[in-house]
Amino acid sequence: MKILIPADQIQQRVAELARQIARDYHDRPLTIVGVLTGSLIFLADLVRHLDLHLRIGLIQASSYRGETTTPGELTISPELLPELRGRHVLLLDDILDTGQTLVRLVERLQTLEIASLRTGVLLRKIGRQQVAFEPDYTGFDIPDAFVVGYGLDYNDEYRHLPYLAVLKDE
Ligand code: 5GP
Ligand code: MG
Repeated sequence: MKILIPADQIQQRVAELARQIARDYHDRPLTIVGVLTGSLIFLADLVRHLDLHLRIGLIQASSYRGETTTPGELTISPELLPELRGRHVLLLDDILDTGQTLVRLVERLQTLEIASLRTGVLLRKIGRQQVAFEPDYTGFDIPDAFVVGYGLDYNDEYRHLPYLAVLKDE
């Protein structure tokens, strides 16, 4: 495993993103909706920097990768979502790869009569997007490799690593 982004760099960047978000939402309450399971660590670190009127919600999206590193069919489970009608929502995911997950989730949230919607990702893979989609907040642009750590898994392992690493032997 090769370290791609060390823990201290992630923490620094997350704090910067939080400052940007705090500026943008200083005058309206915010609901951050984290996409399970990958965004969990990012969400937890980010919100602790935010001195705002803040709510947290969760939505599950999975593309059933298991032991593969290529996406399968996407399933969205909105059962954990709080009431979002009239709320300013920031949808937060771990990584923008092809873009299919976020585009589908945005479509879904837009059916809920929310007041506004923005998106944020910790990572964006260069040259992989299949749909035109620009997140409002992006932590790092990374090369096209399969990464684990800081919430991201391979076969449900490695999520707890405080750094991001490239998984070498797939
Ligand atoms: P997309 O729909 O943008 O292709 O894929 C987004 C989802 O695929 C992410 O939420 C994440 O769960 C998973 N994913 C994409 N690339 C990677 C990667 O490099 N490592 C891991 N662990 N998951 C990834
Ligand atoms: Mg995910």
